[in-house]
Amino acid sequence: MKLEDFGYNKEIEKLRVDTNLKDFEVGRIIVQHKEKYIVKTERGDFDAEITGNLRYSANGPEDFPAVGDWVALVIYDAYISIIHKIIPRVSVISRQAIGKHGDIQVIAANVDFAFIVQAIDRDFSINRIERYLTICNSSEIKPIIILNKIDLIADIELQQLVTTVQKRIKHIPLVCLSNTSKKGLKKLEAYLFKGKTYCFLGSSGVGKSSLINNLIGNNVMATREINERIHRGKHTTTHRELLVTEKGIFIDNPGMREIGITSSTDGITDSYNEIFSLAKQCKFSNCKHIDEIGCAVLKALNSDKLNLSSYQNYLKMEKEKEHFELTVSEKRKKDKKFGKMIKNIKKRNKY
Ligand code: GDP
Ligand code: ZN
Repeated sequence: MKLEDFGYNKEIEKLRVDTNLKDFEVGRIIVQHKEKYIVKTERGDFDAEITGNLRYSANGPEDFPAVGDWVALVIYDAYISIIHKIIPRVSVISRQAIGKHGDIQVIAANVDFAFIVQAIDRDFSINRIERYLTICNSSEIKPIIILNKIDLIADIELQQLVTTVQKRIKHIPLVCLSNTSKKGLKKLEAYLFKGKTYCFLGSSGVGKSSLINNLIGNNVMATREINERIHRGKHTTTHRELLVTEKGIFIDNPGMREIGITSSTDGITDSYNEIFSLAKQCKFSNCKHIDEIGCAVLKALNSDKLNLSSYQNYLKMEKEKEHFELTVSEKRKKDKKFGKMIKNIKKRNKY
């Protein structure tokens, strides 16, 4: 298999050259389990570990390889390979690590498209869709919204739901799907391209695995047996896997309830994206849309062109984001300080 078959392109090649990693083999992380990895290369799939240097220079979990990462590695034999560096990420889906203050956990790297999956039953929440859109927006990942399990409601109900979503979220592709009846599957497949990487976002139970199964059929080129070496047949919720198929490259994610998304009941009418495009017309580029002069968002709000709950949801998310970024930068500072302290001690003691 060629590197291009599992997603390699000119952009990544340039990053590899720019970061002086040309002398290494190139591979892509297809499975990660704690600090053990499986890397796909042109020579096949290899178990891999990271160098001590990579481990000790890491500032946090985000500096460790994640599924989808392109890495520079040395292959020693069929069973041993060592990852030296991560080639800079083109895009990333991350979240606040569970339980650890200010840590970022990378869920998937180098993703081109995200399928935001929601089931039309109890899981349905426009606010949550907007959350996922924010994640995509901040990393230039193209989103596609999927309303799944449409076999469970009447056509007229579905039509209402679609209207509601489209009223608030404009210009993002929306596909109605049933994994049971396979309705909508063809439409969805129109978004698939060989060599592009797709990630599935959505709470557990919305039908992500069923969808992946429907999409791949017998198409998986990746061998699952090798992956069993790491999993030993056990299905763990932390495992993430990258599947290379003729139709596209799929990253199979665990439930993302932890992504920092709180479900809240929402008033539904307008568009989150609309705020983004309005914001471009604000007088000040750093406008927070709260009380600034020349704010296009406030103007739209006052003239009822923007829905109030959409606006409130936006503010709430911005606030959370700010808080999150603050804790991350605080943590970085602390880590840096600590690193310096260690260095000084080492210097003093001439290690
Ligand atoms: P995941 O946790 O997001 O991967 O969800 P799963 O794919 O495991 O699906 C959760 C449950 O929903 C399973 O019992 C599926 O059979 C069911 N399911 C998935 N897609 C559909 C659908 O389109 N219609 C119906 N009625 N059930 C579905
Ligand atoms: Zn503004």
